[in-house]
Amino acid sequence: MLYQRSSRLFAEAEQVIPGGVNSPVRAFKAVGGKPIFAKSAKGAYLYDEDGNRFIDYINSWGPMILGHAFQPVVDAVKQRAELGTSFGMPTELETQIAALAVAMVPNIEKIRFVNSGTEACMSAIRLARGYTKRDKIIKFAGCYHGHSDSFLIQAGSGAVTFGTPNSPGVTSGTAKDTLLAAYNDLQNVSDLIDANPNEIAAIIVEPVPGNMGCIVPKKGFLEGLRQMCTDHGILLIFDEVMTGFRLAKGGVQELFNVKADIVTFGKVIGGGLPVGAFAARSEIMNYLAPIGPVYQAGTLSGNPLAMAAGLAMLQALNDDSGVFNRLEEKTAYLEKGIRDVLNQNNIDFTINRVGSMISVHFDAEPVYDFKTAAKGDNETFRKFFHGLLAEGVYIAPSAYETWFITDALTYDDLDFTIEAIRKVSATL
Ligand SMILES: *Cc1c(COP(=O)(O)O)cnc(C)c1O
Repeated sequence: MLYQRSSRLFAEAEQVIPGGVNSPVRAFKAVGGKPIFAKSAKGAYLYDEDGNRFIDYINSWGPMILGHAFQPVVDAVKQRAELGTSFGMPTELETQIAALAVAMVPNIEKIRFVNSGTEACMSAIRLARGYTKRDKIIKFAGCYHGHSDSFLIQAGSGAVTFGTPNSPGVTSGTAKDTLLAAYNDLQNVSDLIDANPNEIAAIIVEPVPGNMGCIVPKKGFLEGLRQMCTDHGILLIFDEVMTGFRLAKGGVQELFNVKADIVTFGKVIGGGLPVGAFAARSEIMNYLAPIGPVYQAGTLSGNPLAMAAGLAMLQALNDDSGVFNRLEEKTAYLEKGIRDVLNQNNIDFTINRVGSMISVHFDAEPVYDFKTAAKGDNETFRKFFHGLLAEGVYIAPSAYETWFITDALTYDDLDFTIEAIRKVSATL
């Protein structure tokens, strides 16, 4: 494939945008080469500026769960745009999407909309600190909760790729309030709680991590976190920015039947527009301004275009009782295909999958936390990535990412992908 136009556009972008991109992982630094510039996309396919077609396994990092340019979302945005794009006043749309989200997700009574997953997680810990009147939080190595200061401590994917687990610019004062635990290690969490009695406001976790590849929670891990939080007056925050409206209608809380105190959303909830949200029972959410003391705000929060897109997306997911099963079946089919092909080529690998989140790790040992995820063979991944790209299959340009499966994929697309992996595997 030729990427002449993309190369030129990247060179131009580098002149005026740091690194040529507005979010680091897009720059291909982990896999080498130059980023491809997208021109358009429809369904499962992405078209670049040089006219190449790819089957897309990134899907805007998740939101396009029903395919690119999903017609109900496109129509909703077009119709709303004609009515004015922002008011800085409440609109009925905000109540409609809030009511639908509250109906779909267990254990939440109120929800507030923001503009990104970062904002949602940042606001969620402020709320948890205000509510508990405690300062510290526990996060897990390799879990990503956006780029706000408190979370840039061993943060997975982008931050890992770029070797800045502890970014310059984050003060030591902020860093000292973030305690780090190993995912899937309850003893580690218990020790941290014991060492910081009555000081921990919240434990924030990707209940099924997707930012160090996909990690499967061990049996009892999430239940154990729930119990410790209940026992010690700590709020459990499920960061469902990736898993929400993807693994089930009600996310991981529904899938594994574990209750969180605060849940954060992003990605799918905006249908491809910039939306995040955080939600909890009323008692907690009522701590927020204007009725409570914890301040949180946003000029474009609840923006009508974004709400229209999100509402169309949630309605489509809510109305389609088979969608999460179909996603699971398609991803299981892909998993089996990849396993067979990699086995036939005697390649060391581990595949992790939960529902429509899947990742291929080039390491034969089980991958269950950040340490084990980091052992994967990056050189093999680099070849795998570029090989697939040349075959017209676009996966995330980092070994620390999950693949985002879309329902727009047909079984022919999956077979095409497995064939591509067969060809590439023979060269690894
Ligand atoms: C993507 C992601 C975020 C950050 O969301 P942005 O919209 O990129 O700010 C937070 N948490 C998780 C689990 C994510 O996957």
